[in-house]
This record gives sequence, structure tokens and C-alpha cells, in this order.
Amino acid sequence: MAFSDDTRQELARVIPNARCCRLAELSAFYEMSGFLLGRQNQVLDFNTSWPYVARKILIMLKGLYPNLPTQVLVVKSRSRRSQICTVRVLGRQHAGQVYQDLKDQSVLDGSDVPRKRCCRRAYLRGAFLSGGSITNPERTYHLEISTEQSRVAGKILATIAALDLEAGLTERKGSLVVYMKDGGQIASLLGLMGAHSALLHFENVRIMKEMRNQVNRLVNCETANVDKTVRAALAQLEDIELIDAVIGLEELPPKLREVARLRREHPYASLQELGEMMKPKLSKSGVNYRLRQIREKARQLDKLHSNS
Ligand SMILES: [Zn+2]
Repeated sequence: MAFSDDTRQELARVIPNARCCRLAELSAFYEMSGFLLGRQNQVLDFNTSWPYVARKILIMLKGLYPNLPTQVLVVKSRSRRSQICTVRVLGRQHAGQVYQDLKDQSVLDGSDVPRKRCCRRAYLRGAFLSGGSITNPERTYHLEISTEQSRVAGKILATIAALDLEAGLTERKGSLVVYMKDGGQIASLLGLMGAHSALLHFENVRIMKEMRNQVNRLVNCETANVDKTVRAALAQLEDIELIDAVIGLEELPPKLREVARLRREHPYASLQELGEMMKPKLSKSGVNYRLRQIREKARQLDKLHSNS
């Protein structure tokens, strides 16, 4: 959870400069967990579990509407383990104005994607701060944003797609969960939302993991090669034993006899090493050629032997 908390705290410190982006981010907060309340819509509420997110909402509201009458309420749950912080806009006129501005900016309560790219990024930041979490990349690559409203889930999905990224949708305990599983895509989204420290950590882990995988691949590859060499050497030894048993190695031409003798004495030597032990030295392909001739000879003898 620590990485998720760090990411959320970092994003809570990002305050967009442009009015359009502040409204876009606030509209995400409103759609995810906001309410227009009262018989005559006297108050507009933004709810969050995290005080630092409430603080951000308040800062953005006060930046947009300097004299806005607001109230912050904190309600602890009975177990006191969780809490709900509410940033409340007071007064029918004020609540109505903020609501109208959010609606104009981000087509509230619709599924339309924010028009401008800067606002799409801000919208997703707000959505993540409301209902998002990210798994420590050491464990696995997973980022998600959950909501109980299908139209909001659809809008988050569409906004992610509008930024040329891909997300999936699933259902869990009555909530809709928009999720991403690809490390590269998650990294891109972190960058777009402005979580630069989180992105740095995420990418460092990703590079380390990638390097570890590459090393493992190399080691596996190496092991496979060693296996191949050992299997080939064993086959060569069998050929040599067969020839020795049936006709005797001294019946082989001198060049083949020398390779056979060296192979017997150095069962684990590579072809190159065998070649270097020969007088005069022989190339790897030269050794290979002679061993193939030995193999051919062994095959002939084997055939004769089994026919007789
Ligand atoms: Zn914008």
C-alpha cells in the first residue's frame, strides 16, 4: 500500500495552473464522490477518505472562486479506522454556480471525454485521487480506478483511450474497476497525471526487473548450450567405443585416431579446445569434420554388426 499512498500524496500536491484543468479535475472528484444536496440544492459536497486530498480540493476551489463560502467536515467511522472528509460549498447560488461550471467544463453526468488533452490528464488525476490505487511494481504491474457508477467507469475508460493508452474493465464486489496491467502503459499514465517521483521509482524497478529477466535468459541459454555440448561429446564417445570394440582404434586413419584419442582423454573439452591440443593445431570446423567421419564409420560398423 505504501507505493499507492506515496503516489496519491504526490498527485495531491499537483495543482494545475489552468482554470480549465482545475475544473476538469474537480469534475472528476464530483462525479466520483460528489453530491448536490438539499431540497433546493443548497450545498455541493466533495467526499474523500484522505485529508490531503480534501485540502487539494479546497485549494483548487478557492483558487477558482476566491470568496466561496466553504466548510470542511470530518466524520470518523465507528471503528475510527477510516474517515470521510467532506469539502462543502455552502449556499444555493454558490453550489449552483460551481455545479454549472463543472458541467460546462467536463459535460458532467455524461460520458463525453474532456475536450482538451490537458484536461484529460487532470480528469484522470482526479479520478485516481478519488478511487485509484497502484500496486508496488516490485510485486506486479497493476493500476486501477474503481467506481460504483457505470457511466463514470465508461468515461474514465474513454479518457484513457483518448490519451492513446489502454485499460480494461472488470467488476468486483459491486464496483466497476478500470485497470491497467502493462508496465509501460502504467508508467505513461503516471507521467501524464504528473506523478513524477512515483514514475521514477516505477521505472527503476521496471529496469531492474527487465535486467534480471535478461540475465536469467542468458543463463538459461548458456545452460542449454552446455547441455548441447555435453550431449554431443557423449555421442562422440559412444562412437569411439563402438569402433574400438569392433575393429580397434588402430584401424582408423591417423588423423581420426588422434581426434578419437583426445576425445577419450578429454570428454568435456569443446571442439575448439580439442583442436588446440592437436599437432598441428586444427580449427573447430576441422575437428568437427573428423568427428563426423568417426560418426560415419561407427554407423557403418553398427549396420554391419546388426546385420550379421
Ligand atoms: Zn485544461
